Amino acid sequence: MPLRNLSSSSAFGVVSSERIDVAIIGAGVMGAATAYWLKRSDPNLSVAVIERDYSFSQASSTLSASSIRQQFSCPVNIRLSQFGIQFLHAVSEHLSCAGEAIDLGLTEPGYLYLASTDQEPSLRAAWEIQSGHGAEISLLSAPELTRHFPWLNTDGITLGALGLSGEGWFDGPALHQAFLKKALSLGVIKIQGEVKAIHCEGSRPGPRFAKSVSLADGREISCGALVNAAGAWSSRLARDLDIELPIGAARRTVFVLSCPTPLVDCPLLIDTTGFWLRPEGRFLLAGMDPRAEEDDLPLEPDYSELGEAQWAVLAHRIPALEAMRIERAWAGYYEMNHFDHNAVIGPLSGFENFYCIAGFSGHGMQHAPGAGLALAEWILNGAPETIDVRPLGHDRVIRGEPLRELNVIG
Ligand SMILES: Cc1cc2nc3c(=O)[nH]c(=O)nc-3n(C[C@H](O)[C@H](O)[C@H](O)COP(=O)(O)OP(=O)(O)OC[C@H]3O[C@@H](n4cnc5c(N)ncnc54)[C@H](O)[C@@H]3O)c2cc1C
Repeated sequence: MPLRNLSSSSAFGVVSSERIDVAIIGAGVMGAATAYWLKRSDPNLSVAVIERDYSFSQASSTLSASSIRQQFSCPVNIRLSQFGIQFLHAVSEHLSCAGEAIDLGLTEPGYLYLASTDQEPSLRAAWEIQSGHGAEISLLSAPELTRHFPWLNTDGITLGALGLSGEGWFDGPALHQAFLKKALSLGVIKIQGEVKAIHCEGSRPGPRFAKSVSLADGREISCGALVNAAGAWSSRLARDLDIELPIGAARRTVFVLSCPTPLVDCPLLIDTTGFWLRPEGRFLLAGMDPRAEEDDLPLEPDYSELGEAQWAVLAHRIPALEAMRIERAWAGYYEMNHFDHNAVIGPLSGFENFYCIAGFSGHGMQHAPGAGLALAEWILNGAPETIDVRPLGHDRVIRGEPLRELNVIG
């Protein structure tokens, strides 16, 4: 039910002094973006973000590789990226506080997906979808790849797909902080605390209403609508209410490498073996498919992912990497939707006023501007308007009909 149609007391029967129109659990980039768009759309709404750790030390939004691409296999993800890049270009217009310019260091050298003979049909199929939805992607043969990128060994590669616009990287944590700062400047309420329980009215099979949340310190906050933006921890909040939300904390290690030979015009490269690599200042960032797949592993980098065998794989593709050095590494959690590697956006099934924006499976930083707007519209008006994110609705999980994103990195 759209929030604009809810009278403040009738739907829930509770009005407390701490009643908030929209309470958002988690102030990572998703919670902050949703709060910003809600408050920007309706300045009279009371909106709060509830966050347990404002240092965001474990949040994916702090530990992201913060890159943006148009090369997805699902049209809704391409649309979110198109909105994302436009937003990044105009970020100061949206998020500047007191006229201060925001510099996210956006650079757009493209993504380069490499394919072997076996992988070529799926690269071509993805290209068809992307081109059909307005993404500018060029298909390059092996000799063309060599001409563009002389440092690349094209042994075993038959085709590459290079993004010509709207693909690159930026300062993701700065985007997150800019969303939060702007949201707070618009009047969003900042609450420090860990949500321990969600209280509901109604019971299944009828509709349920989220009524309030309890925090670890005993405070209770009543709400007109509730948003689960708890990232890799979002399914824990859903479990107690018997909501199926197949999102887990999947650890990913990012290596910081130095290489004595510069890789001129290096894009974000995705190898046939699954490793990815991109420049970051005078260094390179790289990641591999993880060795351990369980959720909730300790948030420490797994250096064994770049052992001798993997080193050889990198050096085979880019011979200059034979002389690379591992400078350091960090680990973060992908908020992995194990069902289909796609986000869950919109009302949680069976609820009138409990929404979700989580499970972006490693591609959420670039989608936060569009996803936050879509959810704000859904909450306020009953449906997303600017970007139709309904294919990412929770009902697909309940129906058992995955919307598989095939281009998931790492
Ligand atoms: C290594 C790595 C590389 C990545 N690379 C890219 C990339 O190149 N491009 C891209 O677009 N995306 C990338 N991502 C993904 C992107 O960073 C995430 O999709 C995005 O940051 C998710 O934001 P979020 O707000 O959902 O989660 P988070 O940033 O994790 O925020 C969730 C917040 O909820 C809080 N919280 C949880 N439970 C509770 C509770 N009970 N009470 C109160 N607060 C709670 C947490 O403390 C946390 O701050 C990457 C992620 C990782 C880890």
